Amino acid sequence: MRGRELRGELDAFLAETEQDLVAFRRDIHMHPELAFAEYRTTQRIAERLTAAGLAPSVLPRGTGLICDVGSGDGPTIALRADIDALPLQDEKDVPYRSTVAGACHACGHDVHTTVLLGTSLFLAQQAAAGLLPGRVRLIFQPAEELPGGALEVMAQGGISGVDRIFGLHCDPRVDVGQLGLKPGPITSACDRLTVRVSGPGGHTARPHLTADLVFALAKILTELPAALSRRVDPRSSLSLVWGRVEAGTAANAIPDDGVAEGTVRCLDENAWHAAPDLIKSLLESVAGAYGVEATMDYARGVPPVVNDEVSVEMLTEAAERALGAGAVVPTQQSLGGEDFAWYLESIPGAFARLGTRSPGGMTYDIHQGTFDIDEKAIAMGVRVMAATALTALWEVGPLDPVTTALA
Ligand SMILES: [Zn+2]
Ligand SMILES: [Zn+2]
Repeated sequence: MRGRELRGELDAFLAETEQDLVAFRRDIHMHPELAFAEYRTTQRIAERLTAAGLAPSVLPRGTGLICDVGSGDGPTIALRADIDALPLQDEKDVPYRSTVAGACHACGHDVHTTVLLGTSLFLAQQAAAGLLPGRVRLIFQPAEELPGGALEVMAQGGISGVDRIFGLHCDPRVDVGQLGLKPGPITSACDRLTVRVSGPGGHTARPHLTADLVFALAKILTELPAALSRRVDPRSSLSLVWGRVEAGTAANAIPDDGVAEGTVRCLDENAWHAAPDLIKSLLESVAGAYGVEATMDYARGVPPVVNDEVSVEMLTEAAERALGAGAVVPTQQSLGGEDFAWYLESIPGAFARLGTRSPGGMTYDIHQGTFDIDEKAIAMGVRVMAATALTALWEVGPLDPVTTALA
């Protein structure tokens, strides 16, 4: 079986390239670029892919790229890495510290980029040896943190013709050599809501002759979250929490406008889709009762990443094949957002958490200036991604794995 040989092939490949990949990661880490400004990063990736005989296609904005490995009529499996950094100061004292003030790879996207580059180089070798039963689409996506990069990739046809898509994210709470995975939702949705109320305004002595806007706004602030908790399945954990409210300038004058802003977080995809209409109707009914006009601005963030069960099985099988039995550990749905979710709204796939903690070592957190990884995670990521692409191709591919091994 090809599956058995794969581990040996990955061992040989990584024995040769692991140090080079670590150096690549450190270079990217030293030169972080923010969302939609990843020009240098994109060029570095493109140079390496081109040198391996591949033909990367840079996205129109000049940041991010797509590259196919293999050809033919077989299925197409996409592997995605995000490449952007965060607007944070690097607080680490390491030789590969960020050289750019106020920018840092604090979400590990330098690691994702390097893992996918290593995977690309391995798959290019497999394709050259005639061992790729289909096509692998490599997606080096810009601007995950904005978010919006996934939509840009999709607008450029990045996932058209793709059967399944897989991605990884660093998880500093999981030991290196392990992979956190779960079917169903693994991240959450987070949207932003702005409510504006307006009325005629007037003297606080005569609220009955005007519309008591501050009172109405206060009702909206308390009634909306309460009503939502009774109108949405509690298991979806849809929560509206206000972060800013403003109205009025004087103690004895009813203002003619007011505003409140908050976030809507949600664990469930269906509830997320239904949220804006539901909130709008609740808002109108509360505002109407007090005679004020209410409008809302609902800014969509990302939906939850919802892992497809078959894809999770493929990823589990691949990870055990590549890292050994017991390497896949359960993980929980986080309240964070991840724009990989946009791909999974269109095609099946799975997203996993790559362990980056040194066993017994520090537990870092992402989105902090101190975040760092055990660099052994890079080789682990390459093993998982390469095995996942091949496993997915074998399982849906036109070629029998045994036949492929003999070819
Ligand atoms: Zn992030
Ligand atoms: Zn991230």
